[in-house]
Amino acid sequence: MFSYEEIKTIRKQFTIFKKKNIIYFDNAATTQKPFKVIKAIKKYYCNFNSNVNRSFHFLGQFSSNCLELSRNNVQSFINAKYREEIIFTSGATESINLIAFCIYKFIKTSDNIIISHSEHHSNITPWQVLSQKKKANLKVIPVNSEGELNLRIFKKLITKKTKLISISHVTNTFGIINPIKRLIKTAHKYNSLVLIDGSQAISHITIDVQNLDCDFYVFSSHKMYGPTGLGILYGKKKILDKFPPYKCGGGMIEKVTLKKTIFYGLPFKLEAGTPNIAGIIGTNKALNFIVNYSIRKINTYETKLLKYAIKILSNIKGIKIYYKNSKLTKILSFNIENIHSFDLGKLLNNHGIAVRTGKHCAQPIMNYLKINGTIRISFAIYNTIEEIDIFYNSLIKCLSFF
Ligand SMILES: *Cc1c(COP(=O)(O)O)cnc(C)c1O
Repeated sequence: MFSYEEIKTIRKQFTIFKKKNIIYFDNAATTQKPFKVIKAIKKYYCNFNSNVNRSFHFLGQFSSNCLELSRNNVQSFINAKYREEIIFTSGATESINLIAFCIYKFIKTSDNIIISHSEHHSNITPWQVLSQKKKANLKVIPVNSEGELNLRIFKKLITKKTKLISISHVTNTFGIINPIKRLIKTAHKYNSLVLIDGSQAISHITIDVQNLDCDFYVFSSHKMYGPTGLGILYGKKKILDKFPPYKCGGGMIEKVTLKKTIFYGLPFKLEAGTPNIAGIIGTNKALNFIVNYSIRKINTYETKLLKYAIKILSNIKGIKIYYKNSKLTKILSFNIENIHSFDLGKLLNNHGIAVRTGKHCAQPIMNYLKINGTIRISFAIYNTIEEIDIFYNSLIKCLSFF
C-alpha cells in the first residue's frame, strides 16, 4: 500500500494540480497526464518529428523504433502472445467500430450478437447498425436492480447462431466488474467470439488476455494516464488474419498497381495512414508509469479511497449509492433524493470539484433504472482521503441550498 508521502510524490508528477486548485474526481471520463507523458510527446515534436515506416533517414528510423517499442510494451502489459496482435487505433470507440466493420462478412441473416443492458453507447450503436444491415438479431443480457448481469438469462440467449458477444469488463456507470471469464468460457462452447471493452478496467485491474482467452480486448490511452486520440485493439492473430483491411491507404501496402493492391500482413494491414505517433509514444510512457507503481498497488489504494467515500457518503440523508458490493473498482455513482444530478454538479463545480453528472453515455441502463442520471465520482492514483473529506464537506454545504 502506498504511504501518504508516496502519494504526495506521485501527485507532484501531475503538473495540472500545481496550476489549478481543483479536486478532480472525473477520472472515469479521462485521467490527468503525468509530466513524463507530456514531456515525451513534446520531445518527439521538438527533436525527432518524422513519419514512420516510410523514411529511412535517422529521424524516421527513430520514430519507427519508438512505435514498435510501444507495441512491444502494450503486448507485455496485457500479455498478448504475438506483437502483431496489438493494433493502434484512435480510441476504444474506433477499436469497436473496426471490429464491427471487419466482422461484417462473417455475419449472416438471423445470426445473433449479444451485448448487455449496461454498455457504453460505443458498445451498443456499432452492433445495432451491423445487425440492421445484416438482418441479424441483437440480443441484450438483462441486469438486476443493482446493475449486475443476469447470467441465467445469458445462458438462454446464447445459441449456435451467436457470432459475437461484446461486453464491458467494468461498467462506466457504476463500476461493476462483470464476470467476463465465465462469459468467455460459455461463449466459446458455442463457438462465439467475445469482445471485451476494457476502457474502465485497464488502469485498475491486471489484464492477461491469454488467461482470459478473450478474442478481442479494447481500450483508450487517455483513461490510463496517456494522451487522447490513441486506442488499442488486441485481437487473436488467427482472427485478425482473416479480417479485411478496415481503412486503405499508405503504410499498409506491399504492392499497388492501378488494378490491384497487395496488403501487408498484421499489424500494418489494419493501420492505414500515418498513425498518431506522438500518441503512441505518450502511451508507452503512460504504461511505464502504471507498471512502475504496480497496478495491484494502484488498485489497493483506489479501493481504499472508494471504501472510505462510500462510508462517509452513506451518512447523508436521502442518498442512494448505486453499487456498494465488495467487488469494487474506482467508480461511485449516487443520487440525492429530489435533486437533479446537473444541479448538484454545478454547485460542486463552484467549490472547485469536478464530477461527472448525467447519463454517462449509457442511456439504456439509466432508462431501465428509471433515473435521469447520477453523480459519478471516480478515482485515480493521485486522489487522496483529504480530497474526499473536502468533497464531503462541500457536498453538505451544497445540499443546504436545496
Ligand atoms: C470511455 C469509454 C468508451 C469510449 O472510449 P473513447 O475513448 O471515448 O473512445 C467505451 N466504453 C467504455 C466502457 C468507456 O468507459
